[in-house]
Amino acid sequence: MGNYTIAVLPGDGIGPEVTDEAIRVLDAVASRFGHSFTYQKRLVGVAAIEAEGDAISDASLQVCQQSDAILFGAVGGLPSYDGSHKVKPEQALFKLRKGLQFFANLRPVKPLNSLLSASPIKSEVLRGTDLVVVRELTGGLYYGHLEPPVPGKPSEIRQTQQGKSAIDTLLYSEAEIERILRVAFEAARDRKKKVTSVDKANVLSSSVLWRQVANRVAADYPDVTFEHMLVDACAMHLIRKPTNFDVIVTENLFGDILTDEASMLAGSMGMLPSASLGTRETAHGRLGLYEPIHGSAPDIAGQGKANPIAAILSAAMLLQYSLGLKSEATAIATAVEQVIQAGYRTEDLSEEGTEVLKTQEMGQKIAAALAQ
Ligand code: NAD
Repeated sequence: MGNYTIAVLPGDGIGPEVTDEAIRVLDAVASRFGHSFTYQKRLVGVAAIEAEGDAISDASLQVCQQSDAILFGAVGGLPSYDGSHKVKPEQALFKLRKGLQFFANLRPVKPLNSLLSASPIKSEVLRGTDLVVVRELTGGLYYGHLEPPVPGKPSEIRQTQQGKSAIDTLLYSEAEIERILRVAFEAARDRKKKVTSVDKANVLSSSVLWRQVANRVAADYPDVTFEHMLVDACAMHLIRKPTNFDVIVTENLFGDILTDEASMLAGSMGMLPSASLGTRETAHGRLGLYEPIHGSAPDIAGQGKANPIAAILSAAMLLQYSLGLKSEATAIATAVEQVIQAGYRTEDLSEEGTEVLKTQEMGQKIAAALAQ
């Protein structure tokens, strides 16, 4: 039994809808296991820009800093937001990552057996897939060489005699590579004990350094099987034989692309959770930010069509990684599986012979399964 404080940043579009259901499920966990969760709700994204003039205010950032974990919905994409503001909603995520030093993004992909037919990939290829992509989050091509680094901004566009040209730089230090590799090896120790380090060492110097550091770190984990793989080969093998992977660790941009590809293995964006972790310790473990991988889905916002499972599974990751409540996290995963197994679906997963539920109804079913 414990008392925990969770910062909640629902955001825009379907963000608040799916976050409400994650909270409903956390409340069901609290009742079943005798915990107490205190939620500190704050604005983020367009909601924060319109009310507070920034994608996330310093006061909200401080609330996040002082919490045990952060539950995040989604930002951006509101039709009412005309984009004329200097501040962009996505800056909230960059500010949170930078401010709270979240350098590792974990995205597990484990398609449920009863949902295999929802994926465009053949069921026999998918069955047994259980992998996690560990993506470096605060370096690489996303940040360029500007000092201080400016996320999301081209490093340099120059006028030349032949017209404009642009440069992006892919910079990694040994320390940055080592800390993300260690996250991957530690994660593998809790799983199937295999790490695949993905790079482009046949072309990029940063990848040659990445390999050197990865080999050195791997020597500290003799119990974990280790391999290198080129990013282009990895993109192919993810679709050809996803069951061969356990933990994939890679650079920021490679990870961005591979995780979207991997999301298709699970059938819908609405199924995949994520965790962003750093080094900041709290009274209960490591501070982390937990969010579904999908965006604010303006096309379905306000219609009760959003699948809340990615947000609910993000709450499960929060329990496991930041609060150290592994049994509680497993209980959520089991409840989700039971509800899907029983034939309930949201619209994105609907198939013949299943019952389509609204966002809130799906949250209620999962919370009820936890209570049993
Ligand atoms: P999106 O993920 O919001 O939507 C892509 C498609 O998937 C849409 O058809 C949507 O209806 C569907 N979808 C997404 N989540 C779903 C769910 N839970 N249930 C059912 N269907 C779901 O991506 P997009 O349309 O490219 O982006 C919309 C906005 O979200 C943009 O402003 C983008 O910048 C922002 N975005 C934010 C984040 C974030 O907050 N971390 C991540 C990605 C995109």
